[in-house]
Amino acid sequence: MEFDFSEEERTFVAELEAFLAAERSPAVMDDAPEQLSQTVDTPAKRAFMGKLAERGWLGMSWPKQYGGQERPGIYDFLLTECLSRAGAPQPGKGVGIVGKTIIRHGNETLKQYFLPRIIRGEIEFAIGYSEPGAGSDAANMQLRAVRDGARGGWLLDGQKIWTTSAHFADWYWVGARTDPSSKHRGITLFLIPMDHPGLTIRPTWTIGDERTNEVFFDAVFVPDDFVVGQVNGGWTYICEALDLERFAMMPVGPLERKVEALVGWAREAVRDGEPVRRDPRVRSRIAGLVTRLEVARMLQRRVIGEAVRGGVPTVASSKYKLFMNEQSKAVADAAEDLLGPAAQLRHGEPAAPLGGRFERSYRYTVVDTIGGGTSEIQKNIIARRSLGLPAA
Ligand SMILES: Cc1cc2nc3c(=O)[nH]c(=O)nc-3n(C[C@H](O)[C@H](O)[C@H](O)COP(=O)(O)OP(=O)(O)OC[C@H]3O[C@@H](n4cnc5c(N)ncnc54)[C@H](O)[C@@H]3O)c2cc1C
Repeated sequence: MEFDFSEEERTFVAELEAFLAAERSPAVMDDAPEQLSQTVDTPAKRAFMGKLAERGWLGMSWPKQYGGQERPGIYDFLLTECLSRAGAPQPGKGVGIVGKTIIRHGNETLKQYFLPRIIRGEIEFAIGYSEPGAGSDAANMQLRAVRDGARGGWLLDGQKIWTTSAHFADWYWVGARTDPSSKHRGITLFLIPMDHPGLTIRPTWTIGDERTNEVFFDAVFVPDDFVVGQVNGGWTYICEALDLERFAMMPVGPLERKVEALVGWAREAVRDGEPVRRDPRVRSRIAGLVTRLEVARMLQRRVIGEAVRGGVPTVASSKYKLFMNEQSKAVADAAEDLLGPAAQLRHGEPAAPLGGRFERSYRYTVVDTIGGGTSEIQKNIIARRSLGLPAA
């Protein structure tokens, strides 16, 4: 049993870390580990993505015929982890979700148009599954797509909610109902330019300072070429993509940084003239956090292991997402308890301990338990698919 990385993999990580140290800049990297940078777009961030592409670091595991290098999937994972630890933008949606699904199921037009642009780091995507009546039960989506045979395509009308990145993405990856008589077999996936005149985007701000969006569709025309895979086959692709999202978009790096920050605080801080590291309650709490961080890493490696072997790691992804999100909340709770009342001071307040990162973390980690499928839904997946228990 080998839990460590190979020498070649460690060399790659060292190369990445040297690159990230040289590129270190507040315009590109977030100093707090909440990954808020993923929901903001700037020319500097796009330029950074271009630099990753120039070095051949985007889509490393893709087939060579689509511009990839057929390197083991572990390299995509190592890249995401290093970027997340540095608070840098990550290519998760394009490379990990849209690109991989197009490679598996897309037609030639989609492959020719999107794959080179993704691999050059030129394109950002928004993902549209959720609707007011279809969140956890995403298969209940009602955004209507009606066949327009005369023009060779589909007309979309209705609404999505919680579309992160819609305000800066270039393309929209959207599920819509093409057969109202069937639930799971009546959904089709479409790709739509985000500046289509029939789309209206309105902001929704979360408790964690993150912008997400409502998107309204008014007679949005999508040509047949921009249907992903089979008509009415979209639910299968969405499920595969959600499994990929649960780990492609959820590195363990931010949790590591938060635990490291608390450990650093416990080593140095003095309270009432006594080093806090002598307090058995502090030592016990920190030791528990560090142990559970190790559990999160191991659960993540199971997911990566399955994915690298070519599978779609459904149950393993759910276990990892559930544990990671709940653990992130536990770290934020522990920080509030250990750091005391000043932990409630916001980022930028001079007296805020550890730069105020845990005030934001306390709010943000709640949001993380919802996006990409709530903790309750992960438990349902584990119960049904791993334990064989009946559906609720
Ligand atoms: C910050 C953020 C970003 C997001 N980004 C995107 C995005 O880019 N694209 C996108 O499509 N969606 C996105 N989402 C939507 C997200 O996937 C949904 O919010 C999530 O799936 C929950 O759906 P809901 O909000 O409708 O809650 P509901 O489904 O109404 O759930 C409400 C509560 O009931 C519980 N519940 C529901 N069903 C069950 C059940 N069967 N068993 C047990 N408990 C249950 C839930 O766990 C939750 O606690 C985002 C959400 C957030 C908060």
